[in-house]
Amino acid sequence: MSRKAFLLLPFALLSCHRDAPRPRNVIFILVDTLRADRLGTYGYRRDTSPNVDAFAREAVRFENARSQSSCTFPSANSILTSRGPAAFLGQPDQAMGIPPGIPSLAEILRRHGFRTVAVSASAVVRKTPSRFNPSAGFGRGFEEFAEDCVWKSADCVNREAAAHLKRGKRPLFLYLHYIDPHGPYRPPPAWRHKFARGRPEKEWVRRGDPNPIGNWLYKGQPNPGLTPADLRYLKDLYDEEIAYFDARFAELLAALRGSGLLDDSIVVFAADHGEEFLEHGHIKHCRTLFDSSIRVPLLLKIPGADARTVSRPVQNLDIVPTLLDYLGIQAAAPFEGRSLRPLIERDASANELQYGLQDSLRSASDGRFKLIQDLVSGAVSLFDLAADPGETKDVLRRERRAYARLRGALTAWIARGEGEGGVRKAQEAEEKLRSLGYIE
Ligand SMILES: [Zn+2]
Repeated sequence: MSRKAFLLLPFALLSCHRDAPRPRNVIFILVDTLRADRLGTYGYRRDTSPNVDAFAREAVRFENARSQSSCTFPSANSILTSRGPAAFLGQPDQAMGIPPGIPSLAEILRRHGFRTVAVSASAVVRKTPSRFNPSAGFGRGFEEFAEDCVWKSADCVNREAAAHLKRGKRPLFLYLHYIDPHGPYRPPPAWRHKFARGRPEKEWVRRGDPNPIGNWLYKGQPNPGLTPADLRYLKDLYDEEIAYFDARFAELLAALRGSGLLDDSIVVFAADHGEEFLEHGHIKHCRTLFDSSIRVPLLLKIPGADARTVSRPVQNLDIVPTLLDYLGIQAAAPFEGRSLRPLIERDASANELQYGLQDSLRSASDGRFKLIQDLVSGAVSLFDLAADPGETKDVLRRERRAYARLRGALTAWIARGEGEGGVRKAQEAEEKLRSLGYIE
């Protein structure tokens, strides 16, 4: 144990319930492309997630969590480092990994004596190059990084994980990246037709492939003849993928319990972004900062912490500082997020804002309102998330105070992450709007 960790130990012991074991291990479950609103615990009417819902009842459930981007890169980078997306843009050769100089959770925990293991089904979050991430760059800090399950379903990730589920002398950091809800939506046969009905005429719809819609929207190809029934079928298949993952999630929890890891592990359940089904004219992800793309589930099971729901807004960037706080590790890294421990234990924290970045889009939200600005077109919209969770009505002209507050905060955030160049783009965009008479 490092000297620093030794010195912090008494404080960590004091701050936990007397009868609860001190958090020792971290099991980090990241489900790629999982919308919060498709889980029962976040209000979905369908029975997609009985096992996640049961887990949520025993955990701290954040009902107002957002990811920092709607794409795996740079959302996953932000999650694993607590740094905003801008820190990962513009790397040499368009690299997508975590650049040297920005410490990741795996590196920090390894320095503190953890056994660090990743099993990733993602073609982006990789140790070695792939077609989707030619520069790799996510392996630093991991002693083992299993890549055999790329594009494979949750049973593969669970199987790989099983080999590492042992309590050892050293604490364990296990990062499991599942890909099931990501398109194409192809649930295993036993899960087909749990929700989807009939047999669509179009082969690409039967295959759960949303790409012909994307090719029409973004690549100038003709409309593939999309009907409302086709779109419904694709959504049904997406839900079936979630139901399949949910069953495998129960198996993972049983394996954790069987290995004695569950009682003294912090278990994180998170997602890197959601998925769009034409709610705002877009398909898949990596396009917008609407909640269909960035409102994500966040559940933390922490030994000694009571189950509860936290309604204040939080960000995926807050996960790393929270974990380190509970583990009693002080890291020197300049995190952009904050520890959620005050919210978890006392609900006594000022509202923090949630920020997002996707291509030329930037957003800021206080959980009630969300401002989205396009730095290229100049378009800006304000949504009242309480009255209009689907983000269909722009209330910018009516809610001037909310606009001014979020606008100021967003400009400051852009300045922190992107410097003067970013701010200039934001100002030019606002000028454009003003000249059009949209902002007085
Ligand atoms: Zn992703």
